[in-house]
Amino acid sequence: MTTKTGCRHLILVLGDQLTPAISSLRGADKNLDRILMVEAHEETTYVRHHKKKIAFILSAMRHFARELRDDGWRVDYVRLDDDANTGSFRGEVARACAETGPDTVVVTEPGEWRVREDISTWQDLAGVPVELREDTRFIVSGAGFRAWATGRRQMRMEHFYREIRLKTGLLMDDGKPAGGKWNNDADNRKPARGDLFMPQPARYFADEITREVLELVETRFADHIGSLDPFWFAVTRRDAEAAFDRFVDEALADFGTYQDAMLTGEKFLYHSVISAYLNAGLLDPLDLCRKVEAAWREGRAPLNAAEGYIRQILGWREYVRGIYWLKMPDYAASNAFGASRRLPGFYWTGETDMRCLSEAIGQTIEEAYAHHIQRLMITGNFALLAGMDPHEVHEWYLAVYADAYEWVELPNTIGMSQFADGGLLASKPYVSSGNYINKMSDHCATCSYDVRAKTGASACPFNALYWDFLERNRDVLKGNPRLGQPYATWTRMAPDKQQAYRESAARFLEKLDRNERV
Ligand SMILES: Cc1cc2nc3c(=O)[nH]c(=O)nc-3n(C[C@H](O)[C@H](O)[C@H](O)COP(=O)(O)OP(=O)(O)OC[C@H]3O[C@@H](n4cnc5c(N)ncnc54)[C@H](O)[C@@H]3O)c2cc1C
Ligand code: SF4
Repeated sequence: MTTKTGCRHLILVLGDQLTPAISSLRGADKNLDRILMVEAHEETTYVRHHKKKIAFILSAMRHFARELRDDGWRVDYVRLDDDANTGSFRGEVARACAETGPDTVVVTEPGEWRVREDISTWQDLAGVPVELREDTRFIVSGAGFRAWATGRRQMRMEHFYREIRLKTGLLMDDGKPAGGKWNNDADNRKPARGDLFMPQPARYFADEITREVLELVETRFADHIGSLDPFWFAVTRRDAEAAFDRFVDEALADFGTYQDAMLTGEKFLYHSVISAYLNAGLLDPLDLCRKVEAAWREGRAPLNAAEGYIRQILGWREYVRGIYWLKMPDYAASNAFGASRRLPGFYWTGETDMRCLSEAIGQTIEEAYAHHIQRLMITGNFALLAGMDPHEVHEWYLAVYADAYEWVELPNTIGMSQFADGGLLASKPYVSSGNYINKMSDHCATCSYDVRAKTGASACPFNALYWDFLERNRDVLKGNPRLGQPYATWTRMAPDKQQAYRESAARFLEKLDRNERV
């Protein structure tokens, strides 16, 4: 950093706050205030993030800094490889305060508890007051969510979602849900066929800024998971918006119908692939919902698609954020099943004979992306059935996806996927045998395992693991009304059949623990 002239406010803009309307810039003065943006080594390594995730964030940050400068702001940008870079936000804020002597440091609240805790110590460190502002880019504020949650015995997303529909008026007609139903999932979740026309997400060429970042990431993070090539992410607001518009034009209409489908070689299907852009601040959630509603009202997409899509953003995304801030910091240590198995090595390589897992992990390594059902019903389902340590599972999801920030990833992993919170977020564990995966995908047809075989070395491992999971965790799950049917089926099963399932699962898990290829 070169010597700076003084300033009134030192405004720190974090890497997922790449929004001109970010609250830290509210009331800011281009002549009196300075913006600080920091590529912090600590942030790139607290889990071993996917190379593409690091490259995306750094490139989007550099593009945003350029946009701000072009708009007349004084921006001090500390690059990862600047000699004087101390490697942490706190170090860089202290250094900038010493150089510019601001009256106040202003920052919008971060998306991770860890960083918020750190910020609470900066005032003492830098000797300058720190003003932490609310992140107003969400549809529901933290206080709004707490008010909704207060006094509720159950905090189900569906109830929350209805309230927000009413408040925003999205997909509402005369105070009633458009089409008469709040939730149109009955028309959704069909398997897809490989011969359908497949839309593809918009892809962008790397410009000079991105190419420089890619080189830096390749050199500094060679031992992190993932490949950088091909790198096609949008790194500016304009391109991210165009990518979303393309989704609305080409894929939205089939989003709901094929939301849960999986097809070998088709990484994106009818998903929007915009979560990385949205979470970094390049897109606005309410704006996206309004565009999708408009597409439905103009007859460009059916209601099941528009409602299904809006529910993901207005419902799930807002809801998991609310849960995160309501329940942290204890939430991160939840482990309702006391699960402790180490995550197998193939989660980092994709090298497994289980086709569904090799597909989901393989594309994760390549793209830093997998769609929801791959995360929930393939990698998450397997980790839960096999009794993986939920904290390790959480760190994996946080590392490997370009859209992963703790506020959104942790509740999805700990709550929705691993049921480690004992049912606070999900009404039952998302587990299945191979049958469900076979129904929703074409993976089983080319798998080394036989999805129809129930037990034995060549049987689909999900089959025995499913029953073993239910029996192993009976104490935690037996009172769950949604599991009455599977437990009744298990109880009716002949004892030798039950034993065969449990032995089959035990043999598979032993192999896993011995690090043998499965
Ligand atoms: C174990 C697990 C971990 C996850 N980790 C993350 C994460 O780190 N970051 C993240 O953004 N999402 C996460 N999700 C949610 C979801 O899988 C991704 O948001 C989605 O796959 C992103 O792809 P897309 O943009 O194509 O989404 P689409 O399928 O096109 O959905 C549209 C948008 O809805 C939102 N959305 C959908 N489902 C969820 C959800 N369950 N929670 C929050 N937002 C949702 C996202 O913003 C997404 O971009 C996770 C889900 C699971 C099961
Ligand atoms: S047979 Fe089992 S392991 Fe193989 S792809 Fe199907 S569900 Fe996955």
